Amino acid sequence: MGNSYLMRSVHLLSAAVSLAAIGLTILGHASGSAMAQSPGAIGQTKGDAGPRADKCAGRTDVLGVSRVVEISTANGQLFGQQQYGDNDFLKDGEIVLTFDDGPLRPYTVPVLNALDAHCTKATFFIVGRMAVADPELVRDTARRGHTIGTHTWSHRNMRSAGSLAKGEVELAISAVRKAAGQPTAPFFRFPFLADSRAMIGYLKTRDNGIFSIDIDSVDYRTKDPAEVHTTILNQLAHKRKGILLFHDIQPSTAGAISGLLGELKKRGFKVVHMISKAPATTLPEYDALADKELSRKQLAAAKSPLANRAIVWPVSPGDAPAGRTDTRPAAVRVPPALAPSSGAVAAQGNPPPQAISQPGPPPTAPAAAPPRSKWRAPDDDWATKMFRDY
Ligand SMILES: [Zn+2]
Repeated sequence: MGNSYLMRSVHLLSAAVSLAAIGLTILGHASGSAMAQSPGAIGQTKGDAGPRADKCAGRTDVLGVSRVVEISTANGQLFGQQQYGDNDFLKDGEIVLTFDDGPLRPYTVPVLNALDAHCTKATFFIVGRMAVADPELVRDTARRGHTIGTHTWSHRNMRSAGSLAKGEVELAISAVRKAAGQPTAPFFRFPFLADSRAMIGYLKTRDNGIFSIDIDSVDYRTKDPAEVHTTILNQLAHKRKGILLFHDIQPSTAGAISGLLGELKKRGFKVVHMISKAPATTLPEYDALADKELSRKQLAAAKSPLANRAIVWPVSPGDAPAGRTDTRPAAVRVPPALAPSSGAVAAQGNPPPQAISQPGPPPTAPAAAPPRSKWRAPDDDWATKMFRDY
């Protein structure tokens, strides 16, 4: 994992050289602005973010972005002190904003608007089929200058995914890249933070950085924005810095984020925006599958108004994350990419780190027989039920 090398680096070299060794580049300060739009930065909008950047230029009354960190993920890197001690690039008072599981329009849009209003930037770890369900929103997120990473195709637990794990990772990278309409970052977060040696190894071969967390909003446990607000501030009072985890499918986060960003500014916290040195690369076979999924979505949307209102692109029955209730309709198809293939990587069952093991929520029984259509009627609570955990 490179730990021994990094440990030696810390002992033998200065901190600056050590940072260089893991591929971190500090691009400079951009206080109060939507950051210096560094030419060629990955996942950034070039040119057409002008008006927004202007609106933020020179502002000292907003949270803004204090610095941009460019991360090289060549051969993989592990981030987030809750699970990995490898790469701590944050100084006292510095935070990184991350949002998982989306996009989901009712909650992602308020989150994006709050980030814009505070002239700050975040990283979104997007679920592949959520991207296919609403590619426009992924594109909008990218155009606003946020960093786009991935979080598997269907939020499957990678420890129990076996031979499906590789397809989960790759189809998400392809689908999110296509939905974004511009290069995305090779940044990955494991659903439920449930990593495995095998998939860490695989992601390294794909030059993907793996991001755990430092501070958890636990926003899936409450619908009360005040709870999210307090949870974050209490942890920050103690830890003083870190990678913050939110979910832009959660009403509590959508309700809390604007006030919370204001309070973080008041308390003197600084936002660090992570960008990737190189773009995520995709594999042609999964690009083809992602194209197919996106075309099917377009076709379905054209045929049925209901399709436009669906919040996720369906996956096959029986592949919900372990311990979750699958409220999806029964008769749906599995993308062939997720079928076992000879090149698939078998995930190993590492025991979960203690800090993140939590009892799952009680199963929620489906309210009624699933509809005949493969498209679900809109249900704002649906994703909340599906992704109650990381
Ligand atoms: Zn998640």
